[in-house]
Amino acid sequence: MQHVMNTYRRLPVGLVRGQGCRVWDEAGREYLDMVAGIAVCNLGHAHPEVVAALQAQAASLFHTSNLYHIPGQERLATMLVEQTFEARVFFCNSGAEANEAAIKLVRKYASDQGLRGSRIVTATGSFHGRTLATVAATGQDRFRQGFDPIPAGFLSVPYGDIEALKEALDETIAAVMLEPVQGEGGIRVPPPGYLAQVRSLCDAKGALLVFDEVQTGMGRTGELFGYRHEGVIPDLMTLAKALGNGFPMGALLARPEVAASFSPGTHASTFGGNPLAAACGIATLGVMTREDIPGFCRVQGAYLRARLEDLASAHACIREVRGRGLMLGVECDADLKDLPALGLDEGILLNVIKDHIIRLVPPLVISGPEIDRAVETLDRLLKRKGL
Ligand code: PLP
Repeated sequence: MQHVMNTYRRLPVGLVRGQGCRVWDEAGREYLDMVAGIAVCNLGHAHPEVVAALQAQAASLFHTSNLYHIPGQERLATMLVEQTFEARVFFCNSGAEANEAAIKLVRKYASDQGLRGSRIVTATGSFHGRTLATVAATGQDRFRQGFDPIPAGFLSVPYGDIEALKEALDETIAAVMLEPVQGEGGIRVPPPGYLAQVRSLCDAKGALLVFDEVQTGMGRTGELFGYRHEGVIPDLMTLAKALGNGFPMGALLARPEVAASFSPGTHASTFGGNPLAAACGIATLGVMTREDIPGFCRVQGAYLRARLEDLASAHACIREVRGRGLMLGVECDADLKDLPALGLDEGILLNVIKDHIIRLVPPLVISGPEIDRAVETLDRLLKRKGL
């Protein structure tokens, strides 16, 4: 660790192998993975089809450049459009980079259209990434502290509050950017109908609607994309995390008339959608749709949720169980900072947000017995802490 920058509070374990919902450390000890690399390995670790696609591509060609056609990238773009809405796709390498691209495209479109403003409204509690523009978009001050000057052009309104959004949407606003379910903000599901109301408001005011599906995308909520729960189609959508099942990649989808504001020279990314990433994306999305992984996630998510509700009745510290699909949060009235470390002793990987919300985002292929094991372990851990 001596030569690694100190940007993460790391747990004292080195993981070296994975299979499905389980991972192993250097000593060969097994852990049940309820984190999936933070909602990344949605098909589970070492999925044979993704592994085979990556190996075959690696043996053939790693990287060329977007100076040339990349057949796999074009195929993946078509597959994504077939599953979403009429769009053009820009590929990049992370969630922050996808959102950065969305922000730039919104501004460029506003400029091309001669609109009066290019400001973007986001939601309090949101998280959109760690670049300067995406920390500016993020509706949590703590991510901006010490990084002045922060890029201008963003404001945030309370998530789920349609009246607040209505008030904010004046002619200086070019877009509204939201997560269909807030992830880093603490697994917050908006009130029913909210996203549809946001869509109508954006249409009435001529603002674009951007959904950040970096965490909710790729089956996580029990639909391939989070917006499908409400049948609300955005103008722009960003993806990353599970898009390559762990291979680093991101994407921005935009309606063609908006996407037309990007032309050669306006935006780029050296590695974006390179042959390796494209191969992983094609394999991941292929398995996801062919095997209806979102449908399986709905069933397993309902089961995990029911078991967590039972857990809540046995532990007074649990204030609420919430979320969608296998993106679940257990909010507690207790300091759970040490829970991930205690979890290691019990052979489970756990993630805690804001020191009091357990975020459960396992691989979507988790089995019933694995869910039972996770909940029984949580029960033991809470008891061990006297909760
Ligand atoms: N957007 C959302 C909704 C996220 O949850 C995250 C990461 O947690 C990001 C953007 C940033 O993604 P990345 O860490 O890949 O830059």
